[in-house]
Amino acid sequence: MLIKGKTVIVTGAARGIGRGIAEAFAREGARVVAADLGSLAVEAGSDWHYSLSAKSELEAAASAINERGGTCIAIEVDVSDRASCQNLVENSVEAFGGLDILVNNAGIIQTGPIVNFAESDWERVFAVNVKGIFLMSQAAIPHLTQNGGLIINIASVAGKRGFPYMGAYCASKFAAIGLTQSMAAELAEFSIRVNAICPGNVDTSMWFDHLSKSKRRQQEHGTDTVEDTFAAVIQDHVPLRREQTPRDMAEAALYLTRADNVTGISLTISGGFEMN
Ligand code: NAD
Repeated sequence: MLIKGKTVIVTGAARGIGRGIAEAFAREGARVVAADLGSLAVEAGSDWHYSLSAKSELEAAASAINERGGTCIAIEVDVSDRASCQNLVENSVEAFGGLDILVNNAGIIQTGPIVNFAESDWERVFAVNVKGIFLMSQAAIPHLTQNGGLIINIASVAGKRGFPYMGAYCASKFAAIGLTQSMAAELAEFSIRVNAICPGNVDTSMWFDHLSKSKRRQQEHGTDTVEDTFAAVIQDHVPLRREQTPRDMAEAALYLTRADNVTGISLTISGGFEMN
């Protein structure tokens, strides 16, 4: 698919991987809808274990794209809420006259021993990481069907291998890959392609506000700052010895957009950390 002039929705676009993907599509001439919790975070995410994006971050992400000559609007969404997903898609179609690409990137993590993992945390991880893909895709498919579109789901290396203390997150990402394959098989007759990207270790809030703060991980690597812990994980576990970046994931998203004969894959970008 040619990217220039296409309309793309990116969820979780206020920061991190989603922002990187939104910026890359805008650089290629796409019209971008940057979607994130914004003021909805107060209701949907302010009690989460680390901060989710605020309204100011969402607005800053959209402004930065427009200031560089791109075309971007910001729309608030809670991907775990059906009406909110419908509202996002309808407003995007109204603003840009159609929809070609949906990037389901919004995601959250919580870690801890399975034996006392809170049921409410399990449910929230699945509500965002799995039901979010389902609800956003359901809202978008009627519009994509008219254009022969594309869905890209951001899964994880944790969707290909189990990691200790990450049961809910791993299960949600395995589910995201299963949903990707199922939708790819089902929607091929409409020329809608569905693929996933599986990031390795990306230098975002998910690591710096959560994973690198783990005492267990700090003890394992003999580190005491989040920066040193993240760097040690990369040195000790990633064959190419470099972290992944939002830009790496954006390159993968652009590739999958252009790759007209590719559907149902889960493309791992991890410096060799995961080779499947
Ligand atoms: P991040 O926390 O920086 O970004 C996630 C974004 O999703 C935030 O802006 C947050 O506000 C938004 N979000 C959370 N709940 C939402 C909801 N209910 N509705 C709408 N938006 C919501 O983290 P990131 O690392 O950029 O993560 C992006 C995606 O990449 C996630 O799906 C994550 O699981 C996946 N991932 C990240 C890594 C990594 O190493 N950082 C590795 C593998 C996969």
